[in-house]
Amino acid sequence: MSGNNITSTNNRTDSLTGLKSYAAFRQEVQAVIDSDEQGIVNGGYVLIYFDIMRFKVINDLFGTQEGDNFLVFMAQQITAIGGKGCIATRINSDRFALFAKKGREETDRDVQTFLQNVAEYPLPYEIICNMGIYVTKRVMKAEFMLDRAILAYSIIKGDYVKRYNYYDSSQRDAMLGEQEITSMMRAALADRQFVVYYQPQYNHTDGSLVGAEALVRWKHPKRGIIPPGVFIPIFEKNGFITELDLYVFDEVCAFIRRSIDHGNKTVPISVNISRRDIYKPDIVGVMESIRQKYDVPVDLLRIEVTESAIIDGVQQLNDVIDQLHKKHYIIEMDDFGSAYSSLNALKNIDLDILKLDLKFLADDKKESDKKHGGIILSHVVRMAKWLGFSVIAEGVEHMEQADYLLSIGCCNIQGFLYARPMPESDYTDLLKTAQLSKTMPAMHLISTMDADNFWDPKSLETLIFNNYVGGAVIFEYRSGDIEPLRINKKYIREIGGQFTEDHIMASEPLGMLDDLNKKIYIDMLERAIKSEQEEECETWRTYEGCKEPICVRSSVQLIGKSVDSYLFYAMIRNITAEKKAMEEIIHREKLFRAASEQVNIYYWEYDVKTKNMYPCFRCIRDLHLPDVVCNYPEPAIEMGIFPIEVADEYREIHKRIENGEKEIETVMPLTAARVPFKVRYTTEFDENGVPIRAYGSAAKI
Ligand code: C2E
Ligand code: CA
Ligand code: CA
Repeated sequence: MSGNNITSTNNRTDSLTGLKSYAAFRQEVQAVIDSDEQGIVNGGYVLIYFDIMRFKVINDLFGTQEGDNFLVFMAQQITAIGGKGCIATRINSDRFALFAKKGREETDRDVQTFLQNVAEYPLPYEIICNMGIYVTKRVMKAEFMLDRAILAYSIIKGDYVKRYNYYDSSQRDAMLGEQEITSMMRAALADRQFVVYYQPQYNHTDGSLVGAEALVRWKHPKRGIIPPGVFIPIFEKNGFITELDLYVFDEVCAFIRRSIDHGNKTVPISVNISRRDIYKPDIVGVMESIRQKYDVPVDLLRIEVTESAIIDGVQQLNDVIDQLHKKHYIIEMDDFGSAYSSLNALKNIDLDILKLDLKFLADDKKESDKKHGGIILSHVVRMAKWLGFSVIAEGVEHMEQADYLLSIGCCNIQGFLYARPMPESDYTDLLKTAQLSKTMPAMHLISTMDADNFWDPKSLETLIFNNYVGGAVIFEYRSGDIEPLRINKKYIREIGGQFTEDHIMASEPLGMLDDLNKKIYIDMLERAIKSEQEEECETWRTYEGCKEPICVRSSVQLIGKSVDSYLFYAMIRNITAEKKAMEEIIHREKLFRAASEQVNIYYWEYDVKTKNMYPCFRCIRDLHLPDVVCNYPEPAIEMGIFPIEVADEYREIHKRIENGEKEIETVMPLTAARVPFKVRYTTEFDENGVPIRAYGSAAKI
């Protein structure tokens, strides 16, 4: 119930936060102002208006209880900075106002404290509160003060960087511009004052041109060029944006048609559609009629939708995307990373290309943020590719950014580094000389496994991954490096209890292998890339914080590949115990052999399945047996080592071994001399209890 309604215990208090109702606030503020002496006020008054950006998202992500908790917290913070004698209200849902007797300096400090505390609120989501502030020394009506604070707020509304804004009169003039813009817009469209610019997009790997984005400019006869940042938000508010977008779409189609007719080169052009357009009935039909009017191939167009459209409604957005897909349009998610949508939301939306905006990801305020941005970026790029999306980065201004993007697998780039948005004529010239490349590489899935399903927590694939397979990991392999993307619980169990998923995900997987084992592993990957079949190997690894190395048998299967990276699915089994047991046996066998040399013991191994017998050195030397005796025990009977009268008994012993008898012991007269020997067998079984081999010995009594 939070956010949208206010239930008051009485008309003067908001029951959730305990702040004043708006009516009470107005009256009490007015009373304070009126009681002050004739407009001369010490220090002055301040009125702050607070609005939480996309508060609905907090409710959606964490539940209304969390939402309510946060509103209560907000109320506490607001009264805390207001200090004694302040008056605070929750105007409605997530909007608050604070009135206090303070000057600008003190307000500055308070606002910083407030922002700091909100930033530290313990939710895994960055809560942004924008504020408009009006400071005055004049006596005026409470509503007036609030209007101005709201006006100051509306200028920075939705701004991630600028969190608060002080009202000044020039801003008021700018706001009047809004009405002016609205009054001029229709005539401007008819007068063709809106002009489309093109910003090229490049593949940073080879510098080839891969596409362009159409960006509108308003060439006002008196004011000069008005940037879209000024008029687009106004058009989005008043609904005119849909008309403008269709106009731009028409202009772009006309331009592509001209290019084709002139025999010029062409690359796809991305056209923006606003979140408002999605609600226009049959928007896709209208676009299609425009495209057909110019007979433009659909693969030369791309449609950019903004991430914020997700917040407005996944259903509506999906309907439009579906229709566009049916007509074979490629859909780009614009400004990815700007809002909360995250990869989570992507599961529900059928997109083709993700457009990452660097300004949302790599904030250059603080060094630590920058790093953080880089990490987010590399994860997003990797996951996006994995999910089968192409990625393009925009807002790329520096070579280092482009190189970094390339290093994490994002090669498509739009930004001032390569080119600014330019008029059609310049863009046409550029096209003539540019090296072209049309394809944006995406991860091509090899296996029949559906990658999308893999990220769906309810899918069969996830179920299998989590529950029905042994230790499994999905990782990316590129230029000799491995990066785990997803591991299941059994993987951790196989490796050993002391690790957490984070630990393993964060570690450098090949760092646990020495050079020899690394080579074994990489060779296997290379084999798997070539064969596209399952390949296997065994490696010894030393995990950090673990004294003993462990031996892991891995079988890998290539499931996806892009230009420079490969996606693998690997099953692992910790075979350290088996290996150790084997070593132990070998060790004991050695000791035993040594001992048998001292006493009169002959010793051999009998392989149940193949009926091969492996004699000890002494058997070979004294009884002239070959290294391997096939079809045992027949040759030994033929040679008279086991004389004719014990032949059947001896054959019977081997049947008993086959039938699973564990220990057999008997006395037999051996060789032509009929010397009595104690003959013993100990059988070894596999994990299913099937006898695999028996260790035989004959000791002179
Ligand atoms: P957008 O779609 O995110 O467009 C990218 C903006 O980033 C453009 O601003 C572009 O000029 C700017 N930009 C490109 N490279 C760089 C760079 O390296 N550094 C920086 N700092 N900026 C860069 P622009 O042209 O001012 O457009 C602003 C916004 O207006 C666009 O953001 C888009 O949301 C909107 N817009 C522009 N044209 C249209 C249109 O035809 N229809 C709709 N609905 N919106 C449009
Ligand atoms: Ca765009
Ligand atoms: Ca963008």
